[in-house]
Amino acid sequence: MCGIFGCISQHSQNLIDKTLQGLKILEYRGYDSAGITYHNAKTQTNTETKLTTIKSVGDIEQLISKVKNHPQTTVCIGHTRWATNGEVNINNSHPHLSYNNEIAVVHNGIIENYSECCDLLKANDIKLKTPVDTEVIPNILYLLHDNKHNIHKYLQGQYVFCATDIYSKNLFLAKKGNLPLYIGRDNDTIYITSDTLALPTSTNEIVALDDLDTCEIIDNQILFFKENQSIKKSWQPFNQSFIASDKNGFSTYMEKEINEIPDIMQRIISSYSTDKTILQQIQALRAQIKNSNCIHICGCGTSYHAALILSKVFEKELQIRTIAHVSSELNQTTLLNEKALAIVISQSGETADTLACMDILQNQKIPIIALCNITTSTIAKRSEITFPLLCGPEIAVASTKVFCAAILIGCLIIKNYTQKIHNEFIQNTRKTLQNARKILHFPNTNDFSKIFIIGKGIAHALALESALKIKEVSYIHCEGYPANELKHGPLSMVDTTTLAITIGDNVSNTAAEIQARGGTVINLPIDNKNPLNFIGQIIPVQIFALDLAQSKNINPDKPRNLAKSVTVL
Ligand code: GLU
Repeated sequence: MCGIFGCISQHSQNLIDKTLQGLKILEYRGYDSAGITYHNAKTQTNTETKLTTIKSVGDIEQLISKVKNHPQTTVCIGHTRWATNGEVNINNSHPHLSYNNEIAVVHNGIIENYSECCDLLKANDIKLKTPVDTEVIPNILYLLHDNKHNIHKYLQGQYVFCATDIYSKNLFLAKKGNLPLYIGRDNDTIYITSDTLALPTSTNEIVALDDLDTCEIIDNQILFFKENQSIKKSWQPFNQSFIASDKNGFSTYMEKEINEIPDIMQRIISSYSTDKTILQQIQALRAQIKNSNCIHICGCGTSYHAALILSKVFEKELQIRTIAHVSSELNQTTLLNEKALAIVISQSGETADTLACMDILQNQKIPIIALCNITTSTIAKRSEITFPLLCGPEIAVASTKVFCAAILIGCLIIKNYTQKIHNEFIQNTRKTLQNARKILHFPNTNDFSKIFIIGKGIAHALALESALKIKEVSYIHCEGYPANELKHGPLSMVDTTTLAITIGDNVSNTAAEIQARGGTVINLPIDNKNPLNFIGQIIPVQIFALDLAQSKNINPDKPRNLAKSVTVL
């Protein structure tokens, strides 16, 4: 989590605006607080170099309103924070400065040997001003002086950071573990970013930092090191094809992204029926499946629910034992037999819990297939085959279109459906979107204190995802439950302030039991005539969650305490 964006150029220009624009796009990674540090350019009257730091609590708009002057500069670094160590307040916001205010750092990740670092700093009479782990970095860089490429020997954990100092006007970058950090360049500026989505359209080349790399950017020279040895890295051509900040006329990204679902379903069906590379990948996967006797599908949050649904589809269609895992719950003692195959699902391809789960799978030599929206990501790079989710950027924190894409792709890669089924499915998904508010009526009052969503089989997995969506964006306690299980415990919770959404038409007994205890029940019908139809059935609940959030004046794109792309363990 946390977004890092920085710019460096040989001549003074408006890098402050460029940094703020980059941070705005990275805001999905965290919006607890934000900040920038820039170099004051030397002028004839002002020959002293210094760093200016501006910080604010809340999202990037708060920072933008605080940055009154936009002087031309050659270096600016910025950060949007999702706090892990130290509460959300202005002092704890990044950039963090060394004790003498000469080195500034923006950081993503956690310094796990924080207390050891504090001891080292104490022994050197350096006092820290905040409880944030990040603050040790500029101070250790200060102690290391010219030896900073050895920084990884001092810091433990997974992290990336970008530093600048008043002496040199350089940038210094370092990466340990799996967190992303990219360098992009155009004709006159070099950019540092946590996600290539934030790079301006002028960027024509990028390179990603790898584990244990350090990098120094001096003027327009970019020097890479690994364990203090100079290394060469190859630049990839880059073409920014999305304008990430465009809401396409909708008031929120969440609504825009739900409305894209039918077109994305169409795009996936056409690419997965015609694209040569994808068709070859499908053949390779099907050959692997033939050699496997168990499939493990792993994901976190919404991706876990997609995994759960696919596990049911796979078992039915392939007659192979298929187990869905919450990525962080797969551990060294999980039984993974020799002929197993793993599928990991991740929107960003940087999900730390899923990367940790891949370590376990790889240690046991289990082949890994990824379903991933960002095909340049770490998860994609570490997988044998990556099936692209083809969704374009998903900015809203609550995932909607990517959920549908992962399920559809999971279905298509194991089975060929007829053209008729494809066409009907697209038409039905369009109709479901158009009629979503009629299919699932918003109740007259939203005065309920708890919500149950119930279903059986795949509808139960859809209920779990529905409950997550409602919780994420409306802050109302909502639980997905297998229909018949309600009477084995949770029915005791039901009273006149309970709303229940029943999914499918095979749950009428449970619905009656809820109504008998004063709860309100609304039903989401499922039309199973087309075998892919169930994928679009989530749309009415996604829209229900959106409406619920908006009725409570909550911005569904940025729910409190959350961030997209969960890159910390
Ligand atoms: N540990 C740092 C902080 O709490 C960075 C957190 C992160 O990357 O999510 O500010």
